[in-house]
Amino acid sequence: MGYALAVEVAAALLCVVAVVTAAVPQAEDFVRFAVLAVALVVHVVVVWRGEERRRARAVGPIFDLTSVWTFAAVIVLPASLALLLIAGMRLATYPIRRRPWWRYLFGSAVLLASAAAAALFMRLFTALPLTSTTELTVQAGLVATVTGAALVYWVVQAAGHAGILTLTLGERLRDQWGSRGDNVAEAATLVVGGLLAVAMVFGVFYPLLVLLVLCPINLMLADHMADAAQLREHARTDARTGLLNSRGLREQAPRVLERCRTAGTPAAVLIIDLDLFKSINDTWGHPAGDAVLAATGETLRESVRPGDIAARDGGEEFVLVLPDTNRAAALGVANRIRLDIAALRVPTSEKDGNPIVVAERTASIGVAASPGNGTEFDELRRAADTALYSAKTQGRNRAQEAS
Ligand code: GH3
Ligand code: MG
Ligand code: MG
Repeated sequence: MGYALAVEVAAALLCVVAVVTAAVPQAEDFVRFAVLAVALVVHVVVVWRGEERRRARAVGPIFDLTSVWTFAAVIVLPASLALLLIAGMRLATYPIRRRPWWRYLFGSAVLLASAAAAALFMRLFTALPLTSTTELTVQAGLVATVTGAALVYWVVQAAGHAGILTLTLGERLRDQWGSRGDNVAEAATLVVGGLLAVAMVFGVFYPLLVLLVLCPINLMLADHMADAAQLREHARTDARTGLLNSRGLREQAPRVLERCRTAGTPAAVLIIDLDLFKSINDTWGHPAGDAVLAATGETLRESVRPGDIAARDGGEEFVLVLPDTNRAAALGVANRIRLDIAALRVPTSEKDGNPIVVAERTASIGVAASPGNGTEFDELRRAADTALYSAKTQGRNRAQEAS
């Protein structure tokens, strides 16, 4: 705690010195500030959900690509505006922190300290506002200064974290200074940020350049997400619960129902929808919601027989197809599952990263049975869906059979 407080006080002092000695922002600075702020907002919005999940899994400090914008800001803006941009970003992303507030504060202090130190370095070796010049020595000097500022930015940040990690996690170098991959990514990010900054100084069309940098970064992230989604889609199982996914359900349910129809046995379709699930996400964040989904999936997997179908049909909706099961038996299963879900106690973490147990969550279930409600999967499913809707309007936490 002493170390953290010392770093925070030092960060505050550095910021004050950087702001006091900074140039007074000119009209052009406000335009640059606006361009970088818009790029940063787009970036953060695109990565929002993935970042929250990543932060929930990660233990130490988290490297992300936002330095492209924050480091560029440190180079081209007076320190007051650059630090304002960074503080604004940290405040805006607070809802997805997955860390106790004091750890998030420490991380913010280290980031602001590194930005202030790099800004002071720039201030020492260049005269603001940076303007375009054709003089080669001046250009070379600027590139050298930006490289130096990148080193200062990196070293202050890495050392700040290494200090606390040495005190908390122990001796391993990798734990203290981050993995090779993390540092390579950070270096690449700083290089792109530095190039962007130099381009902003020399180029007339720099908003276009900002767009050029923004596109590949976002495309890279989008590709990443699409690849993961496609892999899940290609398989027939849902990664979060291990149950069948929508595609697997659509393939297998008709087959099972067809078999019952030719054998002349009944079959049932259950749709299980978690009650007020959105409030879990809203209160504790998406990773907590994911944990509840995984626990529900496990409960369902354990409560079905071999030959039954259990699927997560997107979102927080589950579908069971039970062959050789009549209406009364299906209602029995539905009520048993309802009680099992209500009895679940799911260990997870809240937004601060503190461990919590989510309990007393309920589900509503719609039950349809063949041949009364039809024999095709789509018919049975529609009937079960209508029954589910009626269970919701009657006050939730109940199983309702289709009329
Ligand atoms: P009710 O069904 O009782 O009417 O209320 P609800 O809050 O469950 O309502 P709704 O079905 O509209 O909300 C479903 C929510 O589930 C919305 C969405 O954000 C969330 N959700 C869907 N898929 C996922 C997921 O994979 N992970 C998490 N964490 N949340 C999800
Ligand atoms: Mg729901
Ligand atoms: Mg729903």
